[in-house]
Amino acid sequence: PELSPLISRIAQQNSIIAKQMDELKIEHEAREKMRREFTANVSHELKTPLTSISGFAEIMKGGLVKSEDIPRFSGYIYDEAQRLISLVGDIIKLSQLDDNELPVKKVRLDLYDACASVVASLKPAADAKGVRFVLSGEHAEIFGAEQIVDEIIHNLCDNAIKYNKDNGSVFVSVTKREGEVELSVSDTGIGIPKSEQTRVFERFYRVNKSNSKQLGGTGLGLSIVKHGAAYHNAKIILESVPDVGTTVKIVFKTETAKGQQ
Ligand code: ADP
Repeated sequence: PELSPLISRIAQQNSIIAKQMDELKIEHEAREKMRREFTANVSHELKTPLTSISGFAEIMKGGLVKSEDIPRFSGYIYDEAQRLISLVGDIIKLSQLDDNELPVKKVRLDLYDACASVVASLKPAADAKGVRFVLSGEHAEIFGAEQIVDEIIHNLCDNAIKYNKDNGSVFVSVTKREGEVELSVSDTGIGIPKSEQTRVFERFYRVNKSNSKQLGGTGLGLSIVKHGAAYHNAKIILESVPDVGTTVKIVFKTETAKGQQ
């Protein structure tokens, strides 16, 4: 008689284990599917510029290009090679973030100073588009991996300039609040439709593929932001209205900084 409760408990536990195994299997399959899709996407994204480079080089090799057209053809080859360099660079960054194989350590760093150096480096790109690029806020320390934090700020500002309108504005700000530090990058650009707002963080997802490519995008910028924020346990908030603009906020916790010092 004492055996029956025991048997029913074992049966209950068995069914819990079976359920957990099913869940693990589903998770494993989803991961595998993502990996397969990523490999297929990478192959496609690499093949396109390589095919162009090979095509232009072949025409030049055959002596079919007039000497005055050589700079233009070399320019095409150069642009496609630059695209490949950005793409391979972004793929490496993403895979390092994915495998937690980071070459950088977390240190105490000033988020405002990090923004100031990104703003200075992207100023020429903003000027070229007549975009006003303004940094405001206050000095605020976070505990972070310098290279990744720079990458997050750079990718957000780069998008805010790229997807802006001519003579638009980009506002970067750092705000200290109780237990958190917020980075905000806001633009007066083309905006992102509601239905695409979660998808833009997926690898290679672009709202307008040809527009992104023309602007030198790899489709990986926001995925790097997403993984970089997760690495810092930071929250991402995206607010966007088509034709009005986009704001992306990254909220870093300062408790984590204290905890890890
Ligand atoms: P990309 O290299 O194409 O810019 P991202 O991963 O950085 O790739 O962004 C994905 C897509 O999200 C972009 O192609 C663009 O369509 C959209 N997007 C990102 N940032 C903005 C922004 N600030 N304003 C409007 N659209 C944006």
